[in-house]
Parts: sequence; C-alpha cells; structure tokens
Amino acid sequence: MSKKAFILVDYTIDFVAADGKLTVGEPGQKLEKSIVSKIRETITKEGLVLVVNDLHNEHDNRHPEHSLFPPHNIEGTEGRKLFGEVDEVLNQMEEENPGKVIRLDKRRYSAFCGTPLELILRQENIHEIELAGVCTDICVFHTAVDAYNKGFQVVIDESAVASFNQKAHEVALDHFKSVMGFDVKRRG
Ligand code: ZN
Repeated sequence: MSKKAFILVDYTIDFVAADGKLTVGEPGQKLEKSIVSKIRETITKEGLVLVVNDLHNEHDNRHPEHSLFPPHNIEGTEGRKLFGEVDEVLNQMEEENPGKVIRLDKRRYSAFCGTPLELILRQENIHEIELAGVCTDICVFHTAVDAYNKGFQVVIDESAVASFNQKAHEVALDHFKSVMGFDVKRRG
C-alpha cells in the first residue's frame, strides 16, 4: 500500500479558540477529536503528517489579506500555536516519530503556495492526501484547488473541516465532490 499524507491547515488558536483573532468558533472547536484521531491513525499507518499554518507579520500592509481580515497568526504570538489537544498530541507524536511530522509556514491561502509541500509529497512518493482544518471555503479550498491541479488524489472528511460561514462550507464541500471528484465523507 502506498503511503498517505494528512495535511492540517490553519488549525491554530487564532482560527479556532473562542478568543482567537479570526476565529471560526464552535464549528472549528468541534473538529478537535476527529483531527487528533486522524493524526494518530496516519502515524500508525506509517503516513506523513504535514502541518501548514499561516504566518503573518504585524506591519505588512502590502499583504493582500491586510484590508480583508483583522490581523491573525502573527509571527511569535500564542495565536499561531495549534489549538487544544491537537497541539499536545502532535508535539508528542513528533518527539516519538522523528521525520513523520513536518511543519511548514505559508504566506497565502494555499498550503502549496511558496512552500516545499509539493516537493515533500513527490519525494515521499505520496499520491493520496487528506485535507483538514479551517476554513473549508478559504485556505482548505485554495489548497484543494492546487492539489487538484497537481494531480493528487484528495480525501476530505466533513468531521475535520469547518468555516465561519456554513453556506460557504456547504458550497465548498459540494465543489470538492462534484467538480473536482474528491472523496468527500459527509456526516451521518
Ligand atoms: Zn492569513
């Protein structure tokens, strides 16, 4: 069986915690258990866990997100840490399984933009990836489009993605399935 990757996008305190700077809130917090179990499962099956988080600087007015969103995931702040149990479990997994957890910083919505993500996946001969995190219709969506264009097989489980906007979340899930042909796992 070929190796798989679990890619977690922006599951940080700023995007998920009740007092996060740009928080998805409860729908995001509800993903915690599912994400923890997916991280454990990936490591057990000898897969790769890739954690890709937004990185912003406080005074970067030229960034395209500057006029669209309040400041978030600022370099060196607590808000960039992973949310809740995901942070603890991942730190532990990383310590026990050297090389199986890779952390990358991204500067745009897509986890592929300006990062070595594609290079790492090709090098490890990984063709199938699962995308998780927030928001379904923004960073997960832009990452999904890039993954589609690069020819990866993609799985998205509704229990591991969320958004500020339930309607946009639904539209994105439908797009993943009907337009990109991804394996979308729905609840219930
Ligand atoms: Zn951002």
